[in-house]
Amino acid sequence: MLRKIEHVGIAVKDIAASNRIFTDILGVAPYKSEVVESEQVITSFFQVGESKIELLQALSNDSAIAKFLEKNREGIHHIAFEVADISKEIARLKGLGYQMVHSQPKEGADGKLVAFLHPKSSNGVLVELCMDKAE
Ligand code: ZN
Repeated sequence: MLRKIEHVGIAVKDIAASNRIFTDILGVAPYKSEVVESEQVITSFFQVGESKIELLQALSNDSAIAKFLEKNREGIHHIAFEVADISKEIARLKGLGYQMVHSQPKEGADGKLVAFLHPKSSNGVLVELCMDKAE
């Protein structure tokens, strides 16, 4: 079961410059900055009410964010939905024939277990499923 949009991920070239821009726009500073080694990204998270924005900058050319920015401008990279049970959701979507980037939950940023749907399966939108590790 999907609960809500947990965050929107935005690919940026210069996270320090983008932190300033989004601090101006949102009126709050990022509440956390985190390196995700497995994805070769540095992230920062902003919270406004229930909504979160994740900025992502590549740390190497192997990063999915670097590859995204080779083909696209900076901008919206993915939409993350909070799910009650990530393994169940992966199984449900695979059962319906959707292609997953990750068929097992993996450690993501911000204390989450995450799995991505392949954008080929979802109208070109990269969809992230995420669940609090504590749940
Ligand atoms: Zn995300």
